[in-house]
Amino acid sequence: MNRSFDLEKLVRPNIKKLVPYHSARDDFGEGLLLDANENSLGAPFPDNEQLHRYPDPKQQKLKELIAEWRGLRPQNVFTGVGSDEGIDLLYRIFCQPEKDRVLTTPPTYGMYNVSANIHNITVDKVTLDEEGFQLRVDKILDAVEPNTKMLFLCSPNNPTGNTYATENIRTLIEEFQGIVILDEAYIDFSNQESWADKVVKYPNLVVLQTLSKSFGLAGIRLGISYAQEEIIDYMMKVKAPYNINKLTSKKAVEGLQNWETVQFRTDAIKKERKQLKEELEQLKIVQKVYKSEANFLLTKFTDAKDIYEQLTKQNIIIRYRGDQPLCNNCLRITVGTPDENEQLISALKNLG
Ligand SMILES: *Cc1c(COP(=O)(O)O)cnc(C)c1O
Repeated sequence: MNRSFDLEKLVRPNIKKLVPYHSARDDFGEGLLLDANENSLGAPFPDNEQLHRYPDPKQQKLKELIAEWRGLRPQNVFTGVGSDEGIDLLYRIFCQPEKDRVLTTPPTYGMYNVSANIHNITVDKVTLDEEGFQLRVDKILDAVEPNTKMLFLCSPNNPTGNTYATENIRTLIEEFQGIVILDEAYIDFSNQESWADKVVKYPNLVVLQTLSKSFGLAGIRLGISYAQEEIIDYMMKVKAPYNINKLTSKKAVEGLQNWETVQFRTDAIKKERKQLKEELEQLKIVQKVYKSEANFLLTKFTDAKDIYEQLTKQNIIIRYRGDQPLCNNCLRITVGTPDENEQLISALKNLG
């Protein structure tokens, strides 16, 4: 266990003192509502959603559903505008601009770095190991400075697709005295168990999930953070008052109520991933298709830049990742429908 972890020492002084904005809908949701300067005549079109009223600032109903689904309490759940809002808020809460540092393990998701740049935070980078894209635990712990506040881990990792060894994740959570942010955007496509319900055991763990991938709801922008109650309380204090809108929370609830369909679809994508991998491996221009537990395949080509450009000309859009460490000549290919994958394979066959 992480005995010397002290949350209050990590939180920025201005955030500790912060008196949050108090919104009208925090107090009353029913009655003669003349408190929030909403438009009493309503939306300018037929509206069953009460869109002229502000949404619940706490998203209590949605959080209860999410908590029940992952075996936690609503106090351990934060809902944000995508996972990206969670990432941004954690920087705001823990990282003093120009002073504090974070650690990332490239190649990985670009947003941790972009958000650091927005907040003027130094990013120390410890690349993954070359063989299996695994965490180099000793090197990561060696890179920790006195003011390193957060460590970002992404498992399954984007763009490599692999999961990290459970033992390594656990060691880092237990040894690092700052906040460990474990991004599980692709967890439903993997064979690993989520760490979400471990946030009650590890006070420095924040787990990020999203409805953008396995749920097929990227358009509604709903991200979830799980953490101990004190961290969630800070996130609630710092967020925009009405961050989740009514249409988003309605569709998020619908999504959660259709979890079985999500699982069914996820299984179909995993089967399709296997098939696509086998077909890519047969192409001469493909050197390696990395093992994936996500809904994409990192693929090493003989000349990735050229292939990327040729495909783009045919309106087939994949992601060039050749400029990332350890990803020389790699493209990241999202698993599509059987028909889309077939079109991709036939285009690649014509190239080489
Ligand atoms: C897609 C993705 C997300 C999702 O971000 P949202 O803001 O929730 O859409 C988060 N992390 C990783 C690693 C991703 O690839």
